[in-house]
Amino acid sequence: MNEFAAIQHFFTRSSHPLRSDVKLGIGDDAALLQPPPGQLLAMTTDTLVSGRHFPEQTCAADIAHKALAVNLSDLAAMGATPAWILLALTLPELSDIWLDGFTKSFFQLMDRFACQLVGGDLTQGPLSITIQAIGFVSPQNVLRRQGAQPGDLIYVTGHLGDAGLALACLEKPHLFSLTSGQQQTLLQRLNRPEPRVASGLALSGLASSAIDISDGLAADLTHLLQASQVGAIIQTAQLPLSPILKTFPAASAWSWALSAGDDYELCFTVPREKQSFLAEALKDSGCSYHLIGEITQGDTLQVLTPEKNSFSFPSRGFEHFKKK
Ligand code: ADP
Ligand code: MG
Repeated sequence: MNEFAAIQHFFTRSSHPLRSDVKLGIGDDAALLQPPPGQLLAMTTDTLVSGRHFPEQTCAADIAHKALAVNLSDLAAMGATPAWILLALTLPELSDIWLDGFTKSFFQLMDRFACQLVGGDLTQGPLSITIQAIGFVSPQNVLRRQGAQPGDLIYVTGHLGDAGLALACLEKPHLFSLTSGQQQTLLQRLNRPEPRVASGLALSGLASSAIDISDGLAADLTHLLQASQVGAIIQTAQLPLSPILKTFPAASAWSWALSAGDDYELCFTVPREKQSFLAEALKDSGCSYHLIGEITQGDTLQVLTPEKNSFSFPSRGFEHFKKK
């Protein structure tokens, strides 16, 4: 199969219900799209490189899910509704089995969010997946990293640290004694992050700022603090830990929750006077949320133990191009 046959066979879905705002999809030199009047386009792109963003042995279905989910997570953090997807795929070879696994999982997640693949690229080279996701958001509903004010409450969705723990277990299995059931649960969190789109939409008008947690809570919250020009106090005792992390010694579990990457949960701030509206707004989002701290004046992130001591934890998140 050549490049064009592969695009036609695996990526073009003419029989599928298609979005009416896609005036021209896959097949020409560019897609033609009709944005809804009065809405802003929220656009994001993320690349996943084999061996760097996912272990080389990761299966095609997991890679597809994750590559799309991390982009949808960025739209969720902006309060946007995902709509259109572009996919640039670089593959070492055209393998039917691989492409079949990839596209089935890819379209499954796309369908859940009523998105349409409108174009892309297919090239040969070391495995890498670049996705561009485009969504809509009303100007008054946008969530941004800036906007947090001293006194605002800080929340996160879901729980933290599992994905990073899964990666560590893959890389250094001898350091952990987990059952195979626990390992499976962790791997699911690493390979199948759930984009918090419904939570992001529900937070419009309530949250004063938001970010998605891709590089670890401490690292990403620091980005939010810098954008908002504020500081924060986080209580380790309030960090939401999974049942597996709860079996770890407290300091170790907190470190995972604070520093491990790949969670793809939302971290957001809410003015105190709006706190009472959160439960109602988020009740249908399909996701839990937890109060973890408070925005302060200044520019530092303080992490406090139940004894009110400052908690020090290892490296703050993953950075590309960091000097070793
Ligand atoms: P060009 O050389 O003009 O960029 P291509 O041959 O790369 O065109 O692509 C032809 C059509 O197929 C375009 O509409 C493009 O968006 C689409 N396409 C290519 N690769 C993919 C892919 N992996 N997924 C979805 N659409 C794709
Ligand atoms: Mg091309």
